[in-house]
Amino acid sequence: MKPPRFQYEAPSTLDEALRRLADLGDGAKVIAGGQSLVPAMNMRLATPEVLIDLGRIESLRGIRELPGGGIQAGAMTPHAAFERSELLQRRMPLIPEVMRFVAHAQIRNRGTIGGSLAHADPAAEWQAVCIALDATIVIASTQGCRRVKAVDFTQDVYTTDLQPGELIEAVEFPAWPSQRRWGFEEVSRRRGDFAITGALCTLDLDAGSRCTQARCVVFAATSRPLVIEAAPGLLAGRVVTDAAIEAVADAARAAVDPMSDHHASAEYRLELVQTLMARVLRQALAS
Ligand SMILES: Cc1cc2nc3c(=O)[nH]c(=O)nc-3n(C[C@H](O)[C@H](O)[C@H](O)COP(=O)(O)OP(=O)(O)OC[C@H]3O[C@@H](n4cnc5c(N)ncnc54)[C@H](O)[C@@H]3O)c2cc1C
Repeated sequence: MKPPRFQYEAPSTLDEALRRLADLGDGAKVIAGGQSLVPAMNMRLATPEVLIDLGRIESLRGIRELPGGGIQAGAMTPHAAFERSELLQRRMPLIPEVMRFVAHAQIRNRGTIGGSLAHADPAAEWQAVCIALDATIVIASTQGCRRVKAVDFTQDVYTTDLQPGELIEAVEFPAWPSQRRWGFEEVSRRRGDFAITGALCTLDLDAGSRCTQARCVVFAATSRPLVIEAAPGLLAGRVVTDAAIEAVADAARAAVDPMSDHHASAEYRLELVQTLMARVLRQALAS
């Protein structure tokens, strides 16, 4: 199938892109890697009159270290650049490892962090990673810049906090504590397919192996990734035992009201949530 006719613009600066987005209003859409937007246009689910390609805006690309040890990534940085980044392999190893689960190599070469977050597919790994790592989304418009925590950015299936005239400029990740452990698992029909359900966790341990911070996230089971709020209370301040892991897995099961679709039933997803949560916590402790 072919998309309807559209005009194409490729500004070379962020200011120019923002001005065009403000001038053109609802008729315009930005395009990043095109891996979700182009199929949607081909199926006539999206029918922009003007496409504003962000691909020539160099300032939107790259992975940089921030003062204090955080990481900032430009919105147009492709998934593959995170997968291959030596900086991230040293400083935030969860990100390169999880990127290997995003689609296939060709798609990872084109698809971008900004496009994935703006598209807000509930099964997208980026949303879950950004929430688990307490990332901040930097949003630009002709009015200036604002920052939104990842946990507040995604609101529903394909729905975010982005307002007309705004685009994602960058994503910022806080520094990774030296004693951090992590686990990630997802189930999909085939390698590279979107996840049916996934789970990830970060555990910060002190010198005595006591947990000082825990963040557990489930994704692809509900309309947006879910933080398991009970987890810190069950894990923090103690050495993590098998019983505590099972308690968090039970809490995850109780917190989730999963969706049912042609990929999997709600009942199956519920089983996955509990099983995967226990596995990622064990993985984190073993790492
Ligand atoms: C076969 C296949 C399998 C896939 N499997 C997975 C998978 O397993 N996991 C996964 O996470 N993803 C998967 N994807 C999606 C892929 O990761 C896409 O790259 C991603 O969803 C969209 O990124 P993009 O850069 O291509 O954005 P585009 O397709 O260009 O844009 C997507 C949407 O975001 C908007 N947008 C883009 N950039 C910005 C910005 N900076 N600010 C504001 N809005 C913006 C666009 O207007 C559009 O509405 C798959 C895609 C395909 C085709």
